[in-house]
Amino acid sequence: MSQTALANTDLDTALAEARQAYVARNPRSLARFVEATAAMPGGNTRTVLHYDPFPLAMARGQGCRLWDMDGAEYIDFLGEYTAGLYGHSHPVIRAAIDRALDQGISFGASNPTEARFARAVCDRFGLERVRFTNSGTEANLMALATACAVTGRRKVMAFGGGYHGGVFTFAGGGSKINAPFDFVVAPYNDTDATMALIELHGAGLAAIILEPMQGSGGCLPAAPGFLAALRDAASRIGAVLVMDEVMTSRLAPGGLAAVHGVRPDLTTLGKYIGGGMSFGAFGGRAELMDRFDPRRADAFPHAGTFNNNVLTMSAGLAGLTEIYTPEAAAALNARGEALRARLNTLCQAADAPVQFTGIGSMLAVHTQRGPVRTPADAARDDAKLKELFFFDLLAQGIWMARRGMMALSLPIGAAECDRLTAAVDEFLASRRSLLARVA
Ligand code: PLP
Repeated sequence: MSQTALANTDLDTALAEARQAYVARNPRSLARFVEATAAMPGGNTRTVLHYDPFPLAMARGQGCRLWDMDGAEYIDFLGEYTAGLYGHSHPVIRAAIDRALDQGISFGASNPTEARFARAVCDRFGLERVRFTNSGTEANLMALATACAVTGRRKVMAFGGGYHGGVFTFAGGGSKINAPFDFVVAPYNDTDATMALIELHGAGLAAIILEPMQGSGGCLPAAPGFLAALRDAASRIGAVLVMDEVMTSRLAPGGLAAVHGVRPDLTTLGKYIGGGMSFGAFGGRAELMDRFDPRRADAFPHAGTFNNNVLTMSAGLAGLTEIYTPEAAAALNARGEALRARLNTLCQAADAPVQFTGIGSMLAVHTQRGPVRTPADAARDDAKLKELFFFDLLAQGIWMARRGMMALSLPIGAAECDRLTAAVDEFLASRRSLLARVA
């Protein structure tokens, strides 16, 4: 038998055992899953949370700890896919929600907090105007609809591997239920090929939308110069450059595009900025955003019952101004940089086909030895090895995304980083012979 065939047999066996142990440890999560299938397709209302044989269900969280339904404790290295930046039940966030609740909810009117929150968001991320939505998906929908309406064009350039919400999925060949914009899908981090597509479609492009680091796609940072080239091209052809910072705005005090020295026309935001409540926002140049000024006779409408809901406004304002200050952002991301470097040093020392990409507080594991800079690179990950990594780390009390993503929350400190490092070390040691045979 060849080395690769041997490795596959071993991997299959190891995976089957890891899954079996998972099933045995989690009878209550399994029972919940079976019950859920009666009312929800596949027992699921959020696709990313499903994995075989059944997803773990969490019962409780505190700080950076989670407890599953069977009582096992985990360090939460997932951080609700970046939305859980403040950890579970941060006292300042709780107090802000309590304060809001004390005054009642859902007024069907403007409230005193929304403008203060809007000011804080604009100041922080260099926006002239902002409007709130209930999710990042909705923010992107609004930004792209705005671009089409303003330019009178129909095409939107997005990038393979990109993710902008449930109806804006560009990984693995896209999705049949994507919103019906006329998408032109370009290769992320390939400037020449992207410029060629822009030449081809230029006059018809209403918008170019991208993440300054692909998050769901596997924490793939934009290559140096890529964003600037898109900025120039968008200006040249008169398209709206939409920077989706729903995840990446946490990576630097003013968001990630600013680190590249690039100012988009519109920025979309979401996740942690709502303090853990439902949140989305789109904003940027006044000239574009003021099309929504309802005092104008030709104003674009933008409704949304919960756009200014007091829980999000209050929690978000407290989070951004009292907790995640620019200094706190710098410190958290420095911690993440150090952690990723440490993990990669371990993997290199073990000569293992395992590596971690990302920036600051966001990282993703990849199961291969080659460089991982583009979605095409990421697609070469060994899928079975990644699954084994997930189950092995879970067994050691580390909670992360099944697809390999992690996001640090503020309560994660040195002790938790040590625990993750030890868990990865244990994986590398206990699976050494198997790892050595993976190509
Ligand atoms: N944009 C990016 C970059 C995201 O990662 C996500 C969610 O993961 C979204 C948009 C969609 O946000 P939401 O889940 O709040 O709709």
